[in-house]
Order: sequence, then structure tokens, then C-alpha cells
Amino acid sequence: MRLVDLSHPVEAGMQVFPGDPPVDCRLAASVPRDGFQVAELHLGTHSGTHVDAPLHTVDGGPAVDELDLSLLVGPARIVHVPGLRERETVRWEHVRAQLEDVRGRTIVLFRTDWSRHFGTPRYLAHPVLDVEIAEHLLAAGVRVLGVDTLNPDRTPDAASTGPLALPVHAAVLGAGGAIVENLTNLHAVTWQDPLLSALPLRLRGHDGSPVRAVAMQL
Ligand SMILES: [Zn+2]
Repeated sequence: MRLVDLSHPVEAGMQVFPGDPPVDCRLAASVPRDGFQVAELHLGTHSGTHVDAPLHTVDGGPAVDELDLSLLVGPARIVHVPGLRERETVRWEHVRAQLEDVRGRTIVLFRTDWSRHFGTPRYLAHPVLDVEIAEHLLAAGVRVLGVDTLNPDRTPDAASTGPLALPVHAAVLGAGGAIVENLTNLHAVTWQDPLLSALPLRLRGHDGSPVRAVAMQL
């Protein structure tokens, strides 16, 4: 079986969404002192490669432990959208040829290769998806979108205030679906229509969870 890891390493000080809790990891026990090693982790529910549950943007919506896990394991379509500029909007016309035959519960992953900027300020100026893409895919039965960026919607700069505009989140999560963010290594999936697994931790009542996202060729 071929397998590609689509996850960023989780480590102290890693880049997170502006204002999210910083990631910190330290030793709570060590072999020389205690006879065993245990680490203590501090992180947000949206640290690193992770899944958004409806509760992330839908007040009172389903939490990550209530997601149907079969949404997050299944056939995936990787849509290649190379050469995008900072904050460029990907529109349905750009991707429709790669998606017109997609039906049902296929997981759709957008490969912009913006993941190469992870850890730099430029990662925040990522391309975004027009909500029309989400609407077409939801109409075809798709319930899970994934991006190799921080956010399928625009990430505001530090100066902006007030509630965020999150139209793609509202559409997908509002339909009971899920969004996988901060994917990486999509270029390494060199075969058509991989099997994807992006299972969250069973965090009771929470809005998202880090995942170990992998693409498989069985
Ligand atoms: Zn998220």
C-alpha cells in the first residue's frame, strides 16, 4: 500500500490562525527522573492539520465527536489549482472541469501548494475559495472539503475587528459537513483519486480537532 502523510508536524511555536492559542509542548515526566516519559501539550482545537466540525461556525451545531466518521474516510478528488497569487479567489470556472463528474460523498481536496509557505507571514495571505464552489459541491452530495491553506475563506489581517465573514465555512458546516485545513504534501499524491483518512480525536463537545491526514493507494 502506498501512503502519503498530508499532515504538518505538531510542535511548540508552530504557526496558528491569528489569535488562536499558541502550541506549547513540554515534558511532564522524564525517564531519568520518573522512569517514564510523558509530555504535556497545550494547543487549540484548530492547531496544525485539523478538521472543523459544524460547531465551529454554527451556533449549537454538531461537535467533532458527533461527526459521522464515514465522512472523513473515503475516496478523494485532488483538484490542482497551481500558480495562484496572494489572496486570489479560486472560482468555479477554474475548477469545474476537474469536478464535474464528482458525485456523492467524495472528499474534495484543493491543491494550491500554498502549504510551502507554512510558518511564514505569507501563509496568511493564502488564496481563497469562492462560495460558489462549495455550493456546487454540496449540490452534488459532497460534504467534506479540504485545503492546503489556513482557511478556505479569507484570513483577515490583525487590524480587522468584528465577526469574520466565513461564507465557505457557513455553507459546508451549515450543511452538516466538515472542512479539513492546513493539509500539506498534496503534490506527493501521484495517483488518481486516493483513499483519504482524516479522523479527528474524539474530543467531547468541541468544535474541531487535529487530524493525521493520510492519502492511500490500496
Ligand atoms: Zn479550523
